[in-house]
Amino acid sequence: MTIATLPFDALMDITARPPNVFVRGEGSWLWDHTGKRYLDFVQGWAVNCLGHSPRALAEALATQAAKLVTPSPAFYNEPSMKLAAALAAQSCFDQVFFTNSGAEANEGAIKLARKYGSLHRNGAYEIITFDGGFHGRTLATMSASGKKAFEPLFEPKVPGFPKAKLNDIESVKALIGTNTIAVMLEPIQGEAGVWPATLEFLRDLRALTSERGLLLIVDEIQTGMGRTGKLFDYENADIAPDIMTLGKGIGGGVPLGALLATDAASCFAHGDQGGTYNGNPLMCAAGLAIIDQVGQPDFLKAVTENGLFLESELQRVSARHGLGAIRGRGLLLALDLKRPIAPAIVATALEDGLLLNAPRPDSLRFMPALNVSRDEIVEMAAMLDAILGKIGAARCVG
Ligand SMILES: *Cc1c(COP(=O)(O)O)cnc(C)c1O
Repeated sequence: MTIATLPFDALMDITARPPNVFVRGEGSWLWDHTGKRYLDFVQGWAVNCLGHSPRALAEALATQAAKLVTPSPAFYNEPSMKLAAALAAQSCFDQVFFTNSGAEANEGAIKLARKYGSLHRNGAYEIITFDGGFHGRTLATMSASGKKAFEPLFEPKVPGFPKAKLNDIESVKALIGTNTIAVMLEPIQGEAGVWPATLEFLRDLRALTSERGLLLIVDEIQTGMGRTGKLFDYENADIAPDIMTLGKGIGGGVPLGALLATDAASCFAHGDQGGTYNGNPLMCAAGLAIIDQVGQPDFLKAVTENGLFLESELQRVSARHGLGAIRGRGLLLALDLKRPIAPAIVATALEDGLLLNAPRPDSLRFMPALNVSRDEIVEMAAMLDAILGKIGAARCVG
């Protein structure tokens, strides 16, 4: 393929992209239009939990595509019923509404909480969210997010999302009033740079919300589906939230999300929620192929072990180059660089054939395939080590 013939200009220019065009993927590896190979520790943004184009996913999609793609959201279909049952069986939730993205799942969670407030709490509608939180790019989910860069955008925002401070239970208590209906958080703030809620804070939040009759909503779009070594990160804190949202890993690379609720919180009436593609059999068949593997105890145990291995490799690199601590759980980790060199590292890594992500100028985020191999982790660490060497040398020269 000659890159010059591709019509770059017809796509809205919504982010700075490198000029590489990616054409093929397999496991932890991606290839661009020149045939150059990359070791991928971004994986579609923590999406491809079984790596690029895993056979189980490709086969599930091909089989289902040949059988039934979309009957109508107003009819039952088998893959959606089976996937909902599998999710309910492996979580503390009873009912599932499928979505096409994470943001849409969070929109659903916000609506469900508001509906619950109108039914049980005199119309209470405020959802306490957190500074640094990220819940998506629709208007309501941007409003729920505590991302500084979102603040001036698209005013006026959707009201009703007072912001507390992560790991500060008093800051949550201080915001609870008669209009409060829920507290919503990511168990690990991913986009902000992998800042975990402590397990103690998650337990305190559960106790506080239960005591005050409020819903606890966990946004597990990034942390769910095995990413932290449990199928869902709330399990690490041994709590049972009322509502959970999923996205990213649940589809293993295809657009699928989910809103899950306990029987008590699942209060939508006919007409409250819906969508043309929601719960379509094609995407749900993909979801079934994913949970089939990711939901296995042995698979999750390997995620925990590989997470610890990645952490130890990163620790060695950090020690060699005088960098900072490692944050996160399982295979969602960040390395604190202690200085704003992350964009330079990401750019050099791209040249060297390694895909990394910098959620902040001073940190790198690692979100490999959940079935990444030890060899691939070792190779990534060696490449990162070499890149840091180059950048350090460049700094001395410059
Ligand atoms: C990615 C993400 C979202 C948004 O999901 P989309 O599929 O991009 O809409 C929401 N919350 C969290 C925690 C995420 O990581």
